[in-house]
Amino acid sequence: MKIAFFSTKPYDKIWFEPMGKEYGFEIHFYEVPFQEDTIYLATNFDAICIFVNDYVTAEMIDKLYEMKVKAILLRSAGFNHVDIKAAEEKILVLRVPSYSPEAVAEFAIGMVLTVNRHLHRAYNRTRDFNMSLNGLMGVDLYHKTAGIIGTGKIGQAMIRVCNGFGMQVIAYDPYPNKELEVDYVEPDELFKKSDLISLHCPLTTGTRHIINKDSIDKMKEGVFLVNTSRGALIDTDALIDGLVQGKFGGVGLDVYEEEEGIFYEDKSNEIIRDENLARLMTFPNVLITSHMGFFTREAMQSIAKETLENAYALENGLPLVNRTEIR
Ligand code: NAD
Repeated sequence: MKIAFFSTKPYDKIWFEPMGKEYGFEIHFYEVPFQEDTIYLATNFDAICIFVNDYVTAEMIDKLYEMKVKAILLRSAGFNHVDIKAAEEKILVLRVPSYSPEAVAEFAIGMVLTVNRHLHRAYNRTRDFNMSLNGLMGVDLYHKTAGIIGTGKIGQAMIRVCNGFGMQVIAYDPYPNKELEVDYVEPDELFKKSDLISLHCPLTTGTRHIINKDSIDKMKEGVFLVNTSRGALIDTDALIDGLVQGKFGGVGLDVYEEEEGIFYEDKSNEIIRDENLARLMTFPNVLITSHMGFFTREAMQSIAKETLENAYALENGLPLVNRTEIR
């Protein structure tokens, strides 16, 4: 099988190159993203392998279909970047539904600890031998309420982490998991009661801007908000308004609505034209990272293994257990 990888970085090759050889796949690693003007690079390949900011529209699916590309292999859990409905009859979309939920949950709590205890600022201060503590006071998480939105694999890992901190955990999910020992509440109650809100639901038309002016108005003063799921779960304009009003104790964003083309790239020598992103960077209680919650050795190894197993199943007519479906 010939697979064209897009948006590849040096760290992708560490796992995919040797494992791909073991499977006997012919892999070509392109650094460029998958987009309208790079589709032609998939000519004569059986499958393409893409990452979270490679958007695939219905028109692009038609082109891939004409080119006889059989599958889109997603080396991610989320699949909001592919028009799944348009793909249905034409091309298989296979993803990696679970690789290391703990990697993302551990990162999410790391963001909370950072903005709550101002570790990002303390690091910079002590580098400059400014040992003053003024402005660096945080709060105990112990006995505070954590509100988890989405209790799938990562949400459950986050619940375990929050329980470990001695927090009271409440959750919202339209499909509650009866086996979980957590108090399910309606979104409004979660917004009103939580000291920490952590987002772990997928991006769909139903969850887009789930955090908006209304929900922010309902939140407690000093609430911590963490988004390690998808940027568009948050209405960035409303978030900035809330930050200006001093609503948030801290905000951790591993994802951002308009991250495509910016995240994963070195833009340090360029003028940033995204006004909202530039504004977010000015708040001392906001931590932005470049969509890296997944980025551990264990997760990367598992992503490579499962992605290539998906390709192997396709090549050998085995059941396609990781085919994406619309709920
Ligand atoms: P999952 O499918 O196991 O769980 C998602 C849960 O969200 C499900 O229980 C589902 O019922 C629930 N849900 C659906 N609609 C909802 C709604 N309207 N409100 C609340 N909950 C809702 O997925 P997962 O593996 O836990 O991953 C969650 C998300 O994390 C992914 O969709 C992806 O976007 C994101 N993610 C980010 C990173 C990163 O590096 N930052 C890595 C992996 C996954």
